[in-house]
Amino acid sequence: MLQWMVDSTIRSRGIRDPQVLRAMETVPRQLFVRPEDAAEAFSDRALPLGLGQTISQPYVVALMTELARISPGDRVLEVGTGSGYQAAILAECGAEVFSVERLPDLAEQARKRLVELGLEVHLRIGDGAQGWPEHAPYQAILVTAAPQHVPRELLQQLDLGGRLVVPEGGREGQVLRVYRRTKEGFEVSDHGAVVFVPLR
Ligand code: SAH
Repeated sequence: MLQWMVDSTIRSRGIRDPQVLRAMETVPRQLFVRPEDAAEAFSDRALPLGLGQTISQPYVVALMTELARISPGDRVLEVGTGSGYQAAILAECGAEVFSVERLPDLAEQARKRLVELGLEVHLRIGDGAQGWPEHAPYQAILVTAAPQHVPRELLQQLDLGGRLVVPEGGREGQVLRVYRRTKEGFEVSDHGAVVFVPLR
């Protein structure tokens, strides 16, 4: 089923990075959704996690991971752990993952899943809009809830050459945006419309 998911919705929509494809074929997505949604785990849909939050659709997880251009050993910050699925994909790509979630219940469930899968991810409960300065700078930052404008604290925690991937915008619409830190400042590129829950 994972193979089918990757072939039908990820490869066919243009994701090419072999490391991302392999990670998506390896992490058991069905374990990150609610048991009653297990049958839908492999379709290209966002699914509810409870508490008004959602696990992103597989294509968007793959796209954000590809845009982050992870190399093994990179320190990567994720804002919005949710189910832990995106964190698992990043860990499977060889990153050292730091992930922040504001809702303790979701963070606890994610912690259990990741431990059961033997994936090492550093989790913290708190406001991810502040980042996790103790472990900065990060070679990549993935924001998986949408801010109106990307918080300055997150941009500051990005390494030179690092990539921050964020759905930016409010109710009027969000765009998936990449900020790459350069010596002069930031290079910005847009990668299409997306729909995420808001960053609180
Ligand atoms: N990446 C997740 C999906 C994230 S859904 C996955 O793979 O399943 C967005 C998550 O961001 C929710 O769990 C929400 O509680 C969390 N969130 C929203 N605002 C936040 C904030 N300021 N700090 C940390 N987490 C936040």
